[in-house]
Amino acid sequence: MALNNEHAKGSLDIAIVGGGLVGSVEALYLAKRGHNVRIYEYREDIRKTPQVRGRSINLALSVRGRRALKDVGLEQHIIEEHGIPMKGRRIHRLDGSTYVIPYDARNNQCIYSVGRNYLNASLLKESDNYENVTKYFNHKLIEANLQKGTLTFLKTDTKENVDVKADLIIGADGAFSAVRKSMMKQPLFDYTQKYIEHGYLELCIPADEQGSFQMPANYLHIWPRGNFMMIALPNQDCSWTVTLFMPFTSFKSIDTEDKLLAFFEKYFPDSIALIGRKKLIEDFFGGSPSPLVFVKCRPYHVEDKALLIGDAAHAVVPFYGQGMNAGFEDCTILDHLFQKYNDDLAKILLEFSDTRWIDTFEICDLALYNYIEMRDLVTRPSYRIRKALDDL
Ligand code: FAD
Repeated sequence: MALNNEHAKGSLDIAIVGGGLVGSVEALYLAKRGHNVRIYEYREDIRKTPQVRGRSINLALSVRGRRALKDVGLEQHIIEEHGIPMKGRRIHRLDGSTYVIPYDARNNQCIYSVGRNYLNASLLKESDNYENVTKYFNHKLIEANLQKGTLTFLKTDTKENVDVKADLIIGADGAFSAVRKSMMKQPLFDYTQKYIEHGYLELCIPADEQGSFQMPANYLHIWPRGNFMMIALPNQDCSWTVTLFMPFTSFKSIDTEDKLLAFFEKYFPDSIALIGRKKLIEDFFGGSPSPLVFVKCRPYHVEDKALLIGDAAHAVVPFYGQGMNAGFEDCTILDHLFQKYNDDLAKILLEFSDTRWIDTFEICDLALYNYIEMRDLVTRPSYRIRKALDDL
């Protein structure tokens, strides 16, 4: 078992667990500051594997996330060459008619639909340009001693264990973080995890026969139906990722093709022709609804040795479109702290931990509220919104 702790003088040796969206952005920030960064990622290199169905394939990128992409030199590329602007919500009524609620009628600001894999692959590709970033794929964290700065990975291809040591361990390993699991042994570590009673299933509206969008492209489309909803975000190939959010009990009750078609005819009639009956049946019964979880925890750090960022620190439900964006913002804030405290890890980690939770707890609550807003309140006149909130 090799102990890997080589680094250039003056720079810190930093191990990032998780090479997803947030871990890859953090690696770029740290590499730009001259530190030696090793990314350990459970999966294979995403650039070499086909898209996995079931995980949201596109995401709404907002100003928080754009700021981080700008800092690491990728904003222009992602926005101009890849992102699809979404200027507002396009609401689908039951009769199939639609209307638009702009996000920013005054200044025309918008959010962007970006492909998860494309974004992740672009970030990893950018890190290829830095000699001080090394990536280890197929490495699953199985054990950590955060005080000592040691990690043990299982190499999933060869089944060997690899021990490594670092000055700083950053847990960017998502909502079910193994780094966080290790942190939970610390005294005074607070942790809340909750699954909501609703799940989600992804469907797809394909491009039309000419290869064009079947609906107006520059919107986030919503079919609000009170206790549940469907949304659609545009993809670069002119298809739409459609996500149906509803209680697990409702998913369970739709157990035959006839029930599915009757349900869609009742609640989303205009979407049937867009998705196609056959594809609707195949995609609905070909997948199973995924759960939605949120996590609040604190503190985010252990001494000057370990830190949680992204979903590992604060997983939120997706209704506010801010999970990735808030994770990217973690990286921007950390970068400021590295500057402010001149790489003094004890001060950086303490300030991040002491201050960041206030906003992330709030984003978590706003995301839960926004489900009610999107699926229901968005269709109501404002005086009824007050009543609906009072009734909650
Ligand atoms: P992840 O993306 O989960 O990445 C974690 C990485 O760590 C993965 O690559 C994983 O393989 C790796 N890993 C896990 N365990 C280990 C281990 N033991 N060892 C090594 N590596 C490990 N956010 C938005 O901002 N806008 C949106 O529109 C949006 N839409 C969403 C829609 C849905 C349906 C869902 C579920 C989420 C959505 N989100 C959105 C949230 C967003 O997906 C997450 O906030 C974001 O992916 C968090 O990034 P991360 O890098 O922290 O975690």
